[in-house]
Amino acid sequence: MLTVLTEFLHSGCDRNENLALKRKILHTNIGALIAVATILLYATIYFVIGDPSLIRIAYFELSLGPLALLVVWLNRKGWCFVASWMLQLTALVAIVVSIHAGLGTLINIHLYFVVFAIVPIMFFPRARWGSVLILFAANVAIFAYYETHSVTPVASLQALDPGWLQTLKTVVVASILSTMLLLFWLADSVAERSEERIEQMAMTDILTGLPNRRLFELVFRQETTKSLRNKEPLALVMLDIDHFKKVNDTWGHGVGDEVLKHFARVFGDVVRAGSFIARIGGEEFVLLLSNTQLSDAADVAERVRQSVEQSEYRHKEHSLKITVSAGVTTVDLALSVDDAYRRADAALYAAKDGGRNRVAVYGRPSLETVSGAVA
Ligand code: GH3
Ligand code: MG
Ligand code: MG
Repeated sequence: MLTVLTEFLHSGCDRNENLALKRKILHTNIGALIAVATILLYATIYFVIGDPSLIRIAYFELSLGPLALLVVWLNRKGWCFVASWMLQLTALVAIVVSIHAGLGTLINIHLYFVVFAIVPIMFFPRARWGSVLILFAANVAIFAYYETHSVTPVASLQALDPGWLQTLKTVVVASILSTMLLLFWLADSVAERSEERIEQMAMTDILTGLPNRRLFELVFRQETTKSLRNKEPLALVMLDIDHFKKVNDTWGHGVGDEVLKHFARVFGDVVRAGSFIARIGGEEFVLLLSNTQLSDAADVAERVRQSVEQSEYRHKEHSLKITVSAGVTTVDLALSVDDAYRRADAALYAAKDGGRNRVAVYGRPSLETVSGAVA
């Protein structure tokens, strides 16, 4: 049910690449749905009251229902500008006719024009500001007209039970308020979801799908604060693929990309769930291991090193052998985030200097290479 509704409201959105326009199409469809709901609400109340002129108005408004659905169809066809106008005009005609067909200005239904003056800004893209202005002016003018020229309702409605009259007035105010609330709430929640998606995209490495350097720095700072507060060790492992330039030079950049994706998966498979892994640069990756001592982190790094050494990447009939070097350190009370980062980097370069395909740790007090293949 919910998926059908979501799909209905998104009718026509996939025709456009422009995010702002997609949002406007969605708003217009939401507006059409609210229009249909309002028409049904009023028709029901008019039928319940049973007054002949109200029933006439109910039939007329019900006949406008399909026009609101036509708005969604127009969006689906790609005519979103016509759809937005259609929605506004349908709503405008419905109220004007209701007033002149019998209700007059008795129940303040003309207050709707205040809403219709404001909401076009949600239905039209910024480039269509002319339409927004025209609709704003037209609706304000109609509202002002009915405020200053009262239209007498038909005789049977003048004699309507005061209780019903009060109910009708309450329904008008309540439906105006809920229309505004629903429109703004839906629009806002859609915008929030797309912002979340954009933020997620900005924090993800396109090639490997791993978190990127931005997200790593954010998580690193959060995890550091947490580990210092809980007095738990936090380990940082920097990984750098050895002689990766050669892979590109020999096999081309495209194969280099595939190799990076392959080893990003290998790293992920070795590291236990819950650990944080990110690609922070070309062929540089980091692991953040919460509640992990230096020696345990060195073991993890060593397991990664061995997995990479044992794993092969096949390109056509060739088997590409790749190795990785790692630098390990822990963040402790005496260290700033930047210091920890520098230490892991220093350890990594020690591993490279030591001949590559090895793990070096930077713990107190010294820098040492703890494992690795014999160069
Ligand atoms: P070392 O063992 O000292 O780390 O040597 P290296 O060749 O791995 O290191 P260097 O920093 O000299 O070269 C890294 C290479 O990584 C250079 C660059 O072309 C390549 N690279 C960086 N980003 C990407 C990428 O996204 N895709 C591909 N295919 N290559 C990349
Ligand atoms: Mg590098
Ligand atoms: Mg490298």
